[in-house]
Amino acid sequence: MRILVTNDDGIHGPGLTVLEEIAHAISDDVWVVAPDEERSGAGHSLTLSNPIRYQKLGERRFEVTGTPTDCVVMAVRKILPEMPDLVLSGVNRGQNIADDVTYSGTIAAAMEGTALGLKSIALSQVSGIYENGESFAVARAYGEGVVKKLLTLPFGPGVLVNVNFPDCRPDELAGIEVTRQGKRDQNFLLVDERIDARDRNYYWLGFARERGNPPAGTDLAAVFQKRISVTPLHMNLTQIDAMEALRGVFAS
Ligand code: MN
Repeated sequence: MRILVTNDDGIHGPGLTVLEEIAHAISDDVWVVAPDEERSGAGHSLTLSNPIRYQKLGERRFEVTGTPTDCVVMAVRKILPEMPDLVLSGVNRGQNIADDVTYSGTIAAAMEGTALGLKSIALSQVSGIYENGESFAVARAYGEGVVKKLLTLPFGPGVLVNVNFPDCRPDELAGIEVTRQGKRDQNFLLVDERIDARDRNYYWLGFARERGNPPAGTDLAAVFQKRISVTPLHMNLTQIDAMEALRGVFAS
């Protein structure tokens, strides 16, 4: 089985080696094609107005001057000698749940794999929010098992799977839950204003670290309760239930 490993934290991202370990436990045909710098928050963006370059860093290991989506396209269309059977993206430093899904470059790389007809899984490690700081311990302990289970069934067209490992010690893990995408009940994007050396304002976008009260069955609730969240996502964003009312509006 040929596995393509990518991420959005970049070729030096801390979770990439964790995912490489997971991939190598499954296959000896593992290819790493990752952004040359961090691209968190890139979403499903393509680089269209600048050239893309890539560099071989080692055996089956490449960095690309582009987004996570660029990396998957370059890997499949240019770098790999044959199509991969599986695309693994991550392990992201930080959660990719609820409202994060459309911002996430980690998930978008898996979306691109799905768009290319490949089985694709995004993996993220919740970190630094509650008690355990930056740790990939749960991903490292359980990632291989989760991926192997996901390999046993077809996802179907347009479906990818989003896995989030909770922020706890592996021995505290409370299980694995298949979840739906949640929605945060508080504003989570912040604009942090600062002043530069020439007295001009500048800004950092950042995230609120508040814990809301999400309903059971969501990705949010699962990781809060120290369970691994496994969410099937679909590329087609059509809200079917809204179609009838819209048809009514445009009928006359
Ligand atoms: Mn990231």
